[in-house]
Amino acid sequence: MLSTMMSMPLTITALMQFVDRVHGKSEIVSVTHDNPQHRYTYNEAYKRTRQLANALRALGAESDDRVGTLAFNDYRHFELYYAISCSGMVCHTINPRLFPEQLEYIINHAQDRFLFVDPMFVPLIELLAPKLTYVEAFIILCSQDDMPSSPLENLYSYETLISQQPSQFDWPELDENQASSLCYTSGTTGNPKGVMYSHRSTILHAYASALPDVFGISAREVVMPVVPMFHVNSWGLVYSAPMVGASLVLPGPKMGDGKSLCNLINDCDVTMTAGVPTVWLALLNYLENSGDRVPNLKRLTIGGSACPQMIFDGFERLGIDVHHAWGMTEMSPLGTYNKPQLWEFGLSDDEYLRNRLSQGRPIFGVDIKIVDDQGIELPWDDTAAGAVKVRGPWVTAHYYGQDIASDFDGWFETGDVASISPDGLMRITDRVKDVIKSGGEWISSIELENCAQNHPAVAEAAVIGVSHMKWAERPLLLVVVKDGAEVSQSEILQWFEGKVANWWVPDACEFVDSLPHTATGKLSKKDLRDQYANYAWPVAETV
Ligand code: AMP
Repeated sequence: MLSTMMSMPLTITALMQFVDRVHGKSEIVSVTHDNPQHRYTYNEAYKRTRQLANALRALGAESDDRVGTLAFNDYRHFELYYAISCSGMVCHTINPRLFPEQLEYIINHAQDRFLFVDPMFVPLIELLAPKLTYVEAFIILCSQDDMPSSPLENLYSYETLISQQPSQFDWPELDENQASSLCYTSGTTGNPKGVMYSHRSTILHAYASALPDVFGISAREVVMPVVPMFHVNSWGLVYSAPMVGASLVLPGPKMGDGKSLCNLINDCDVTMTAGVPTVWLALLNYLENSGDRVPNLKRLTIGGSACPQMIFDGFERLGIDVHHAWGMTEMSPLGTYNKPQLWEFGLSDDEYLRNRLSQGRPIFGVDIKIVDDQGIELPWDDTAAGAVKVRGPWVTAHYYGQDIASDFDGWFETGDVASISPDGLMRITDRVKDVIKSGGEWISSIELENCAQNHPAVAEAAVIGVSHMKWAERPLLLVVVKDGAEVSQSEILQWFEGKVANWWVPDACEFVDSLPHTATGKLSKKDLRDQYANYAWPVAETV
């Protein structure tokens, strides 16, 4: 029997129109190259969005076209998000930190017809332009006065383009499964792969992520996504914040600098923010060294990499709740979120901390299971660790331009390894490719890195498996020592004693000036493994 309920498509257009009518007075504050604090309302944002939709049409853009953006978090990027997707085109957000060859690959692979570019990326685009097969025009996100001089052809000023357009636009009726945006993820091997989100997946993800035990945002809050808008739609916050009427603060290029973040949080009364550990480390260091404080900030979400304990402790000391989240580009991105359940407040301090540092519980809408090497499902007993598989309405079934794999069983393989407690707390122990297998047993490189990271002299740490005659693989610890700190390798190795199983303690520690990172700021273990492939252990390997 069918229900009596109406069937309304879940579209970003409907969200935009709702926000325009109901939450129109909430604000978007942005830092841009041409304005340290641009401020306007959602009403004004969507008025310009309609002008932009007219401008796209005037340029000749059509339904299904891929329109690329190379831009930081600011109001013009926000307008692009909505104008492109709600016109029935695909907003392809591009990470400008990728290598030029990867940028060329993804722009051609997506067949982007138009590129909207922050002025600071014009030199990069000049380099790439001769190799971009499908791009017909470059629109620079600035006024005519700020247009950089450039030999590029078909170059337009964004402000000039939209100022000539009317602020009325008839949005097309869209199917909720219509593609809305595209984000490429660069795996450790091969070319980057595209994940194509739909209107429906975006709206469902926004609903779920706004829930009280997820971002828990409301119309009385000011939300600052520090995670870039070119990385999984800023974890969906550019949709979920307007959905609930929260104001948005978009920090532009000032995303990794603790002092700028502190000032922005205080100037704009930010109550909630989200980003990767590197950003929070920069803010924490700044706050601890300067004595400045962020009294209005209530909580921050940390994800993208495991949350180091020192970051958790540091912010908790300042009265700011830290919530750990896990997900990936292929999952829009949220999969799990960590806020305590009532009974957890009765745990001992150590147990409570252990729970908080795990990646959290699945969010309704994402099914999660862990499986062994044979694909057999493992129990949720907090001990068994296996490959994490997921499914749900905001999880991708395959990559853009690729067919669904013939052996696809309805579950997406995340490439992460985790254990799950009986009450659903997932603890990521590794990436499948990063797992260290010593004498047939798994050692968690992430746990070792977290432990090393808590040493007061350690600025950054990485652990990789290096081949070993007796044990097949043993962990090697690579450490960047904090400026001015005095510490020896053996002191760092002693730090692990009593904190992890004896046989987990790395066999050696090497000091390095810096560690390699990927374009999304994660440790590049692949580079490290290549670099240390022929590493000679300081102590003879006995067979
Ligand atoms: P990306 O698609 O670039 O966002 O990367 C997704 C991957 O980042 C995941 O598959 C995990 O390996 C890692 N990741 C994301 N969040 C966390 C987290 N909270 N703890 C540990 N690893 C994480």
